[in-house]
Amino acid sequence: MSIIVQKFGGSSVANPQKILAAARKAIRAQKEGHQVVMVVSAMGDATDDLIDLAQQITDRPPAREMDMLLSTGEQVSVACMAMAIHELGSKAVSLTGAQIGIKTDATFRKARIKSISTDRMRKWLDQGYIVIAAGFQGIDEDFNITTLGRGGSDTTAVALAAVLNADACEIYTDVDGVYTTDPRILPEARKVSQISYDEMLELASLGAGVMHNRSIEFGKKFGVPILVRNSQSDAPGTMIVAESESPDLPVCGAALIKDEARVSLLGVPDVPGTSLEIFSRIAARNVSVDMIVQNVGAAGKADISFTVTKNELRATLEATQDALQSLGAGAVNHDDNVSKVSVVGLGMARQTGVAQRMFRALADAAVNIQMITTSEIKISVLVERAVATHALRTVHEAFRLEQSPPAPSVATGHAAGDSVNAADVVERLQGVDMEDLFIDDISMDDSQARVTIQGAPDKPGIAAKVFEEVAAAGIFVDMIVQSHTGQGQASLTFTVPRDRLADSLGVAERVAEGFACQGVTHAPHVAKLAVSGVGLRSHTGVAIRMFKALAEAGINIDLINTSEVRVNIVVDGAAGPKAFERLNAAFADVMH
Ligand code: ASP
Ligand code: MG
Repeated sequence: MSIIVQKFGGSSVANPQKILAAARKAIRAQKEGHQVVMVVSAMGDATDDLIDLAQQITDRPPAREMDMLLSTGEQVSVACMAMAIHELGSKAVSLTGAQIGIKTDATFRKARIKSISTDRMRKWLDQGYIVIAAGFQGIDEDFNITTLGRGGSDTTAVALAAVLNADACEIYTDVDGVYTTDPRILPEARKVSQISYDEMLELASLGAGVMHNRSIEFGKKFGVPILVRNSQSDAPGTMIVAESESPDLPVCGAALIKDEARVSLLGVPDVPGTSLEIFSRIAARNVSVDMIVQNVGAAGKADISFTVTKNELRATLEATQDALQSLGAGAVNHDDNVSKVSVVGLGMARQTGVAQRMFRALADAAVNIQMITTSEIKISVLVERAVATHALRTVHEAFRLEQSPPAPSVATGHAAGDSVNAADVVERLQGVDMEDLFIDDISMDDSQARVTIQGAPDKPGIAAKVFEEVAAAGIFVDMIVQSHTGQGQASLTFTVPRDRLADSLGVAERVAEGFACQGVTHAPHVAKLAVSGVGLRSHTGVAIRMFKALAEAGINIDLINTSEVRVNIVVDGAAGPKAFERLNAAFADVMH
């Protein structure tokens, strides 16, 4: 019999009427012939209230006791939900995380799921009961109650759907689905009918907070189709599956993180181990870094810039000070008046001209781009905060995101042809913890060359011009990074196929002259190493592990970019094969 998991968030069970309404949805699904597992969050703001309560007693509640306390919120909801279903004449049983057998590690307040047993749930389902599972909680090896981190009921729901090999996982919430951008910022945002796991992962980490990120990682890893929809209406919602809404569209959504800060380390030694030194110190303070741009060194020195969220700036500056001291050279500067605007789409991996379209639109809107990083399915730019919303709207318009895609998209959902089968994955991962880091590919591409325009004036239009001309010459650009160090100058680097280096240099030199830049440098042969998988950002150590493996092999890093699903590093071409070998060794334990 088919199984459906239905998850109701806090706002969807905030009062008795809403609990009864949710109960009716579950009963309806059961009457339609499914076995139904409900996952519920704590009612309304219950979790916040419990946190408040603890704070009135102590500033430093023991983490174990915090989880004991927070787990009660969901326990209230499951009991009330079971009562509601009984009241409506159907059979239901409520179960806590421990009763189900959701085993986690012992990291209180952000525990990761290791395994889930299905026996108990199946026994009740087979007897015609609706199973009501408490979201957000589990139990560690020593029978301590743990919680999965704020918003973690989504993760419970998708994980249960995975182990039960459910047909679908429906997430009921207080919005109609996933939008092309936050509709509170741009009212013209459009609800999408379908989005891919990878796109959703990128958007979520870029500030589009519809769902708990780890739940999407589960969805991707186990091939669980997720449907996000409004609990208060019958609007169709958004399917999150392997494929994007329309294969022809380069971009599916745009996102804005308003409160960002740029940090630049200037004149650090351009030798193996520098990135490791800097970023491992930052990671040790639990800060996650984005938009890492390493400038190609001159005279044995390099500049490294990156962004963090503004509220993590202080911790980051402490870490960079320590790093500079142990590196024995360099200075740091920062700017906390910046915002990050990004576009995401699986389609851009198959199309050219996407970056150029974004840069042109921004140039025409007189928006200065301070930094750029691109990965296969994402382009991010850093702009001054005062123009951030204007920049987001410009980009949203440039890709016509407010319009529905031309061909009506088929919400394939359940039937996605080559999609992963949860049962197979569960089988294959026997003995592996469910939420462990999962690397599925390490690759090397040594067919490219690098071009860098140095000392570009910090004003709109240069990136647009370069990539328009490069595209006009029919050259395929892969990675693009632009850095800005706060001294009125930027440097723009990109990679191209080796056999198009000469043409690319011609274009770069022309544009550099036209804009009075300092000059153009290049490397005729570079190797790009990519590590891809699931959970690359929530498991913060991936980039660090790469830096470490390369530093130990004495290999210098030229360029870096990171995304949710992939970390790319560019090194000198001659070092490529060795780097590839070292990375394979470094990740051997998590390759699947
Ligand atoms: N009740 C928990 C929270 O508010 C878990 C959840 O809602 O998903 O974070
Ligand atoms: Mg909640």
